[in-house]
Amino acid sequence: PFDVLVVGGGPAGASAAIYAARKGIRTGIVAERFGGQIMDTLGIENFISVKYTEGPKLAASLEEHVKQYDIDVMNLQRAKRLEKKDLIEIELENGAVLKSKTVIIATGARWRNLGVPGEAEFKNKGVAYCPHCDGPLFEGKHVAVIGGGNSGIEAAIDLAGIAKHVTVLEFMPELKADAVLQERLYSLPNVTVLKNVQTKEITGTDKVNGISYIDRETGEEHHIELQGVFVQIGLVPNTDWLDGTIERNRFGEIIVDKHGATNIPGVFAAGDCTDSAYKQIIISMGSGATAALGAFDYLIRNS
Ligand code: FAD
Repeated sequence: PFDVLVVGGGPAGASAAIYAARKGIRTGIVAERFGGQIMDTLGIENFISVKYTEGPKLAASLEEHVKQYDIDVMNLQRAKRLEKKDLIEIELENGAVLKSKTVIIATGARWRNLGVPGEAEFKNKGVAYCPHCDGPLFEGKHVAVIGGGNSGIEAAIDLAGIAKHVTVLEFMPELKADAVLQERLYSLPNVTVLKNVQTKEITGTDKVNGISYIDRETGEEHHIELQGVFVQIGLVPNTDWLDGTIERNRFGEIIVDKHGATNIPGVFAAGDCTDSAYKQIIISMGSGATAALGAFDYLIRNS
C-alpha cells in the first residue's frame, strides 16, 4: 500500500505529493487531468516570485518537479469512492482499488458556467471568472459582473476600483449578497445594478464587445457595450464522489482543520475542494504542503 495517496493533480495535489515524497515515504498521485484548473488559464501574474507565466507552462513545471521524485503518477484516472477500512481504499472509475495509510484529497473545483452563447467562445478573451486574477487586465474599461451573491458583489466592488465602470446583472429581483456589501456597492459612483435580468448572450468578434440581456419584467432585450464579463454564479467543489463519507459544508466543501485533517482519521484535504477562505494557486500549494505534513505527522503517530 501507499503511505500517502493524493487524489487530484492540480497545484494542491502536486505540492502535497512533493512534500510527502521528500519524507522518503511511498507516495502516489491519481488525477483525472494533471494540472487541474491551471490548464484552462492563460496569463498568471500573481504566482509570487514569477512575474508572468501561463497555465499550461506552470502545469508542465509542476509535472517536471513531481517527476524529480519517486512518485507513482496515475494520470487520466478518476476516483469514484473512498472507504476507510484498516487502510483507506480509493476505488477508481476503471474498477481498480488503491490502498493507502493516508489519503490527501485535492480534487479542486470548477466555476459554474452561465451556458449562454459567447461564454465558451470568449473565455480568456474578455470572459473571466476570477477578479483577483484577471481584474487588472480591465483597467479603465467597462465590465459586467454576472451574479448578485456575495462573490459577485465582492467582485463588483473590487473591479470598481480598477475598471472605469461596472454593471452588475442579477437574475432575481433582489441581490442576495450581505447588506453591508450591498451598501458599499451602492455607495460607489461607477457601478450600475440591473436586477431581474437574464443574460442572453456575450457578444464579440475576436474578443468581447458587449452583452445582451432580457429585462424579465418587460421581456425587452437590451445590449450594453463593454470589454469584460466576470461570471460569478458559484464555484463548485469536485466532491460529489465523497457523498456520505467525508464531512462537508453546505457548499459541498470539505471541512478541514489547520493540519488539513478531515473528520476521518488519516484522510486529509487541500486546495479548492476544501472550505479554505480563498481559492488561488499559491494558497492551494500552501494547503497541499500543510496536508502532506499533517499526513506525515499522522503516520509517525499511528504506524
Ligand atoms: P484544481 O486545479 O481544480 O485541480 C484538481 C485536480 O483534481 C485536477 O487534476 C483534476 O483533474 C483532479 N480531479 C477532480 N476530480 C477528481 C476525481 N474524482 N478523481 C481524480 N482526480 C480528480 N489562481 C491564481 O492564483 N491566479 C490566477 O491567475 C488564476 N487564474 C485562473 C483562471 C481560470 C480560468 C480558472 C478556472 C482558475 C484560475 N485560478 C487562478 C484559480 C486556480 O487555478 C485554482 O485556485 C487552483 O488551480 C486550485 O488548485 P487545486 O489543486 O486545489 O484544484
